[in-house]
Amino acid sequence: MNHMMVLRSFSSNEVKAHRGCTRACQAVACMVILAAACLTPLLLGAQTLDIKQTATYRRVKAYLNTVPAIDTHDHLWPFDKLPAFVKTEQGRGVNLAGLWRSSYLKRIKTLTPWKDGQKFDAWWTQAKHDFQDVRAASLYRYQAVAFQDLYGIDFDRITDAQARELNSRIYHNYRNSDWLYDVITQKANIELMFNDPYWARLDFRTDYPFGVLVFNVTLLSRGFHPSEFKEPTDDPYYFAREKNLKIASLDDYLNLLDLLFQEAKKKGAVCLKTTAAYSRSLLFESVPKDRAARVFGRARSELTEAEVKEFEDYIMWQLVVLSAKHDLPFQIHTGDARIQGSNPMLLVDLIEAHPQTKFILFHGGYPWVSETAAIVMKHGSHVWIDSCWLPTVSYSMAKRAFHEWLDVAPSDRILWGADEHQAEGIYGATEMTRRCLAEVLAERVDGGDLTEEHAQRIGKQILRDNALALFPQLQNRLWKDKSKLTPEPKQ
Ligand SMILES: [Zn+2]
Repeated sequence: MNHMMVLRSFSSNEVKAHRGCTRACQAVACMVILAAACLTPLLLGAQTLDIKQTATYRRVKAYLNTVPAIDTHDHLWPFDKLPAFVKTEQGRGVNLAGLWRSSYLKRIKTLTPWKDGQKFDAWWTQAKHDFQDVRAASLYRYQAVAFQDLYGIDFDRITDAQARELNSRIYHNYRNSDWLYDVITQKANIELMFNDPYWARLDFRTDYPFGVLVFNVTLLSRGFHPSEFKEPTDDPYYFAREKNLKIASLDDYLNLLDLLFQEAKKKGAVCLKTTAAYSRSLLFESVPKDRAARVFGRARSELTEAEVKEFEDYIMWQLVVLSAKHDLPFQIHTGDARIQGSNPMLLVDLIEAHPQTKFILFHGGYPWVSETAAIVMKHGSHVWIDSCWLPTVSYSMAKRAFHEWLDVAPSDRILWGADEHQAEGIYGATEMTRRCLAEVLAERVDGGDLTEEHAQRIGKQILRDNALALFPQLQNRLWKDKSKLTPEPKQ
C-alpha cells in the first residue's frame, strides 16, 4: 500500500465514521488517523529492514549464546608460538599490531608492519590509517566486534589514547594463557575446538585441553619422493625412519599412509583435512595405479607437471578410501584459495565414487555457496557443509548461504567453525556466526515460516549437535556439563 492509497481510503471511510463529531473533533481525529496510517507502513518497513532490532532476534540470539559450541575448525598454535607474538619495548608479547597481523584482514589490505622493539606510538601513527578503506569489510568487522565486546573499545572511533590503552591491555592479557582459555571457552562459549596444525602436520599433538586433533593430509599427496618434504613434522619418510620402515615402492608408501592413519587415530584425530585448493585444482581424476607407480621414487625435477598431478590424484583417491576405512571424515577446503580451481563442483566425481566416505565441504565453497548446496542436495547422505570462515569473509553472503542451505538441505548437514589464529579472532568469528544465524532464523520466524522452537533447534544443531552426531567420539570429551571450570591449562 502506498501513501496515496492510504489517503484515499482514509478520506472515503474514516471521515464517514466521524460524521457525528464536531468539526474540531473531526480535524484532530483525522490528523491522528492520517499520521498513524502514514507512519505504520514506515515503521513496519524499518522493522523488516533491520531484523536485529526485533524482539525475536534478541531472543534467538540470547538462546544461541547459551549453546556451548563445537567449533570444527581453527589454527591455534601452541601458546608460546602464537603468530601474534611480537618483540616490544617491554619484551616479547602480543600487542595490537600482533593481533591485526595474525587476523585475516591482511588478505585484502596491506597492514603497517611491526618493527622489532619499536614504540607503540610510532607504529600507530601510521597503522591507524590502515583501516579507512575497510570499515565495511567483514574481515575488519569481526576483529572490531572482538575489541568492542572484550575490551569495550569502539575501533571505528578509537582515539590515540584508547589505542595505547588497548595495546597495553592486550600485552597484559597475554602474559600467560589464562586469557586465551577464558576468551575461547567462556566468552565465546566454545566447548571443543578442532585444531588444524598446519605448522606440524604429523606431530599429532593437541596443545589445548579443549582442542580436538585434526589429521592434516595435504602434503601426503606429494609423497612420490622424500625431497618434497622440508620439515620432519610434515615428512612421512621421517615418520617411516622413526619406525624402521623401508619405503621403496608405491605399495610401501600406501602401507605407510595406512600406518599414519592408525597413528593419527590413536593420538585422538577425529577427521582429515586438506588444503590442496591453495596449490592446485580440486579436480582429482581417477588414475590407474601403474601410472602412479611410474612416478613414485622420482624427484620433481625429473617429472612433468602432468605426472605430478597424476600421482597426487591417485593418492587423493587412496586418502578418500582410507578416510572411510578409518572412519575419519574428510574436511576439504573448497572455494577461495586458488580460485581457478577451487569450485566444489570439481569434487563431484570423487564424491560420487566414494559413497562410504564422509565429505565436509569447507567455507561453504565461497563464493560458490549455491553449488555446495546442490552437491549436498544430491549427495546428502555423505556430504556436509561447513560454514567455517564464511561469516568473517562475507557476512551478507553467509546470511544468504544459511538461508539457501536451509531451503535445500536438512538442517543436520550444516556445521560451523571460527577458522582463526588467536583468541580475539576466534571470539569475533564466533560472535559473527551467532549473529548471522540468529538473523536468518529470526527472519524465518517473523516471516511465519518457522516456529521459534524449531529455529532454536536448528541453531543448536549448527553450533553443536551436528558436530556431535558426525563425531560421536566427542561425547567423551565434553566437559561443560560436568563442571563450570575451564579445563586445566597445560602451560
Ligand atoms: Zn583454516
